[in-house]
Amino acid sequence: MTALKFKRILLKVSGQVLMGAEPYGIDLATVGRVADEIMACAALGAEIALVIGGGNIFRGLAGATKGMDRVAADHMGIMATVMNALAMQSVLRSKGADARVLSAIAMPTVCETYSASKGIHHLEQRRILICAAGTGLPFFTTDTGAALRAAELRCEALFKGTSVDGVYSADPKTEPTAQRFERISFTEILARDLRIMDPAAIALARDNGIPVVVFSIRKPAAVAEALHGKGRFTIVTKD
Ligand code: UDP
Repeated sequence: MTALKFKRILLKVSGQVLMGAEPYGIDLATVGRVADEIMACAALGAEIALVIGGGNIFRGLAGATKGMDRVAADHMGIMATVMNALAMQSVLRSKGADARVLSAIAMPTVCETYSASKGIHHLEQRRILICAAGTGLPFFTTDTGAALRAAELRCEALFKGTSVDGVYSADPKTEPTAQRFERISFTEILARDLRIMDPAAIALARDNGIPVVVFSIRKPAAVAEALHGKGRFTIVTKD
């Protein structure tokens, strides 16, 4: 195989991916499939930090629209990301990988508390790092958490796994004529309001010069291929 194009990456996986075909929650077989992909990438020599969403369990905005206090609802969403992170850690370990959850909200009896220096240490020790609890703050998302961790952990790229194979001018599931981009700039993403990640996350990646690689997490070996700069993905870069 050719040399890796990206050595240290931040992989963002939405909570929804972990549902598999289930309508809610965590499908352990799907977690296992994603874990296999991650372990294959680690075996290639990549250093992998993971941020997992919580949308398969709870989204703060959904609670708030039903009358809940937004801060409490977001805290519930944050807890959901910790549940997913623990599931992933457990599955990775059961497969023999050395994985470590660091949470942005301190819960010392459950896992270590996040700090950038601890995170970098685990990556240097070739551990698979799972950053839980997003940014630790309400009114944010795990996409923004992913961009923040990518910058803090000095990742060379932010890999955003989605259900489609890149960035399109419109939703390709509902708009068959949508144009697919091989490469697009952060400015154009923001100007066209292409919602691949929330605008705060895009701005953070742009301002820190971290390219965003958008690919289909459903396609087997897509992460490993993209690590080599191969396969189908869209790369979002500075102008
Ligand atoms: N959340 C938050 N702050 C963060 C990250 C997440 O408040 O920094 C909450 C928020 O309520 C969000 C939920 O956690 O709706 C789940 O995260 P997200 O929606 O990003 O998950 P995904 O859509 O990626 O599964």
